[in-house]
Amino acid sequence: MIKTELLAPRPDAIEKAAGILRAGGLVAIPTETVYGLAANALDGAAVSAIFAAKGRPQDNPLISHIASMDMLGMVAGHVPPQAQRLAECFWPGPLTMVLPRGGAVADEVCAGLETAAVRMPSHPVAQAVIRAAGVPLAAPSANLSGSPSPTTAQDVLADMAGRVPLILDGGACEVGVESTVVSLAGSIPVLLRPGGVTKEQLEAALGCEVQMAHAVLHGLREGETAASPGMKYKHYAPKAEVTLVKGAFHAYCNYVAVHAGPGVFALCYEGEEAALCVPAVAYGRKEDAASQAHALFAALRELDRRGARTVYARCPREDGVALAVYNRILRAAAFRVVEA
Ligand code: AMP
Ligand code: MG
Repeated sequence: MIKTELLAPRPDAIEKAAGILRAGGLVAIPTETVYGLAANALDGAAVSAIFAAKGRPQDNPLISHIASMDMLGMVAGHVPPQAQRLAECFWPGPLTMVLPRGGAVADEVCAGLETAAVRMPSHPVAQAVIRAAGVPLAAPSANLSGSPSPTTAQDVLADMAGRVPLILDGGACEVGVESTVVSLAGSIPVLLRPGGVTKEQLEAALGCEVQMAHAVLHGLREGETAASPGMKYKHYAPKAEVTLVKGAFHAYCNYVAVHAGPGVFALCYEGEEAALCVPAVAYGRKEDAASQAHALFAALRELDRRGARTVYARCPREDGVALAVYNRILRAAAFRVVEA
């Protein structure tokens, strides 16, 4: 087992991270979405180590992170005008674009696909590490595959201690859910994963409709192949069995009261805890999707720490940033949704 160091992102720690990455090692880094487990995206052996450390299925491709537009050509083979437009509008920021792949990026990053996913993060530490390493960094979320994404360095440590030599501690991630993924590799733009950049914002920037992949709101149908392979896996799940409860607050409270028992918890909005007859964990404020996104994964991890076995969750909206929250919590709930 290797020793895992947790360092504040001072210049010497950034240099140390870059040295590890250039030598083919792994470093966990903060980004504005969630913490990433980074490796040199041009080095197949380094990228393989990411899959091993996470226990990630080999067919689930990774996002490459760049710090400047000159790095885009190392990942993408062709940048269509719509991608140029979205880069101007939303980079650096929580938007990933799927583009025809370029030659330099390692096969392991693309998991056998002819496309590559790329993002320019806005987090100053992520940018500094990419610049210092001098290469695009492949970086999925720095959790064990299947568990909630880490939004603090302590969350990373809980999953990755002994699996990675260095974690840079940049505090809590601002957005709190993974990036929006949009594919521009086909004839029309398709939203593969909702995130901090909304479908509505993408449509406004492009001046055309963005199609939503079926898997955003549903499990995969029998025989359906995933446009975004990550969508087919059980995801973001705490150890407890989570159920989403649709309906007004009083109906939710009644539903929870009827189902109360040992190990039963509520996952509600801030300020609602006192009205519930079971222990409650809050994820953000009602009608404030950004605060829900920021708090969701930490709340799921908190439920684990408190030993929750059954969780009844308030159901977020399905538009704007709330769509990203709904998409994640729906998977944490393995698509169990009830009407109160
Ligand atoms: P993660 O890095 O854990 O946030 O997951 C990355 C997400 O991006 C997964 O859902 C992948 O399936 C998706 N992704 C990465 N590369 C591609 C690609 N070339 N085509 C479609 N989806 C991709
Ligand atoms: Mg992930």
